[in-house]
Amino acid sequence: MKDPERVVIAKECCKGCELCIDACPRGVLEMSEEINSSGYHYSVFANKKDCNSCTLCAVICPDMCIEVYK
Ligand code: SF4
Ligand code: SF4
Repeated sequence: MKDPERVVIAKECCKGCELCIDACPRGVLEMSEEINSSGYHYSVFANKKDCNSCTLCAVICPDMCIEVYK
């Protein structure tokens, strides 16, 4: 069975502030090339194997767009 995603980012919720990118100590998150329906580049769970589920990205997001699973 495929591993579930540790970090789930609601792309339509994201306003592209990049706070989560800066908060991640492991460089896991990246901004998308694409834009969402509001016209913002959004955060993407990119370097998945480096994530340790620390939850810093979810805590810093002002719009609570990120969920982290252990
Ligand atoms: S849970 Fe921690 S390591 Fe994983 S993407 Fe978020 S800030 Fe980075
Ligand atoms: S902190 Fe939240 S709103 Fe800002 S880029 Fe990350 S997911 Fe998007």
